[in-house]
Amino acid sequence: MSAADSIEQTRRLVLERIRADASFVVATHENPDGDALGSLIGMHGLLTALGKGSEMFISPSDLPLPREYRCPALEHAIQAAPADIGERTVVMLDCGNIDRNPAAVLQHGAHLLNIDHHHDNTLFGTFNLVDPSASCTAEIVWDLMHGLEVAPSAAIAEALYIGLVTDTGRFMYENTGPRAHRMAAELIAAGVDVAAVNTRLYEEIPPAKLTLLGVALERIQRFDSGELTLVALDAEDFARAGAEESFSEGIIDHLRSIAATKVAVLIRELLAPECRGKRKVSLRATGNDVDVSAIARTQGGGGHRRAAGFSSTLEVHELIELLRHEIAVQLHPAPDGPAVPSLA
Ligand code: AMP
Ligand code: MN
Ligand code: MN
Repeated sequence: MSAADSIEQTRRLVLERIRADASFVVATHENPDGDALGSLIGMHGLLTALGKGSEMFISPSDLPLPREYRCPALEHAIQAAPADIGERTVVMLDCGNIDRNPAAVLQHGAHLLNIDHHHDNTLFGTFNLVDPSASCTAEIVWDLMHGLEVAPSAAIAEALYIGLVTDTGRFMYENTGPRAHRMAAELIAAGVDVAAVNTRLYEEIPPAKLTLLGVALERIQRFDSGELTLVALDAEDFARAGAEESFSEGIIDHLRSIAATKVAVLIRELLAPECRGKRKVSLRATGNDVDVSAIARTQGGGGHRRAAGFSSTLEVHELIELLRHEIAVQLHPAPDGPAVPSLA
């Protein structure tokens, strides 16, 4: 059976499950981004429109959410699994790996629908609707919306549109195809205020976010003829800038855009007390010659070929050596034997 046939078959099973089951919990990955939260609100909206019981789950460790993603709908999200979790179907969205959701208890639902677009999804659900050709998880939710014959409310349309805009880099990444634009057209027709979404996501920037960006731009390091462009920020940098953790979002796009860069990396110290000593490493590739998700997987993380991440207790200098080596292995494989990274 082709991959497309198998996705279609699972899609039908997932639609059946959604039609048949009465109550749900929808959840997503830790540190939720626009696609995670857009898919969450969109799926919850679909289930509610069908008359189902549905709760959105967000872990207390993910609160407060980044300013740009806060919205009234999410104020109703629950922060602990409901007592009747065993009777609910859990829908996990945009989550490549069940360990990326902080609530292990959500694995104890009656069914676990895993709906995602990461090519390295570990298929942890009882049903795994994983379509790596989808630009975002919101696109899969949008497709299910058609299958369920739900007309999108303005709120559902806006949530799915936010997932689409953020995961396609405002319709500029390689995952942007005709389907992404058709979806956008349909959602705009259903009531999305494009300019208002743009203002909310990309403007109204808190000054401290720009201060942090300024620090980052002064700290750019380049290795191996500029193939690796990297910035490391520690807790003190955030404190001095008066920046929240989520203010580092977007810095990596500046690094990726520097000429000759093959891989851009942002290393940031995690700020939560329970994460002391840990760093989050975000990776972006500019082309097809490096698969950054493969590098992230060697460290227990994952993601897409061109956007991936992992967490680590390694020191910054150790991470830099590791990254240079892993990039060299992919970019400059020796004819026989392992690649040796060239000097900066
Ligand atoms: P980020 O750098 O956090 O914006 O993440 C980029 C991509 O990598 C997203 O698709 C994430 O889902 C994925 N990703 C980030 N961190 C991890 C992780 N610890 N484990 C698995 N995937 C991750
Ligand atoms: Mn995501
Ligand atoms: Mn996504």
